[in-house]
Amino acid sequence: MRDCAFCRIVSGTLPSEKILETQNVLAFLDIAPVHYGHTLVIPKKHCENLLDLPDNLWGEMGQVCRKIARVLQKVLYARGFNVVMNNLSAAGQVVMHAHLHVIPRYTSDGLQFFPQESYHPGDMARVGQQLRQALS
Ligand code: 5GP
Ligand code: ZN
Repeated sequence: MRDCAFCRIVSGTLPSEKILETQNVLAFLDIAPVHYGHTLVIPKKHCENLLDLPDNLWGEMGQVCRKIARVLQKVLYARGFNVVMNNLSAAGQVVMHAHLHVIPRYTSDGLQFFPQESYHPGDMARVGQQLRQALS
């Protein structure tokens, strides 16, 4: 897609620090890292988000994520890692080409991604019932 930054990275018209390339997937460093080594894993083909990503690409992206995570542990001494995917703008997706963030983590790095809350009484069962019904 012509106006997509990540498609331009795939085609080489926008420079990037590439880390790993497989048949259908590319991994490169995020330009604004949470920590050094923060990597983006994308399908070479333009897909907007998880919902239009074919299963084979999703699987290949997962395999690449594992390789990146291992190398972040080995080379940058990450003690853990987060794999994060923002889907659609309400969830914080800014670049509308599907991508997984692989973020190296360190003991006591102080990052907390999402604040959590609790259910009001009865609401957990009600929401569970609604979702099960929609899925059946
Ligand atoms: P999103 O919020 O869409 O999940 O994240 C998009 C990510 O892409 C951001 O973390 C941002 O720093 C990164 N990014 C945006 N444009 C570029 C670019 O041109 N090159 C690289 N390497 N990363 C980019
Ligand atoms: Zn694209």
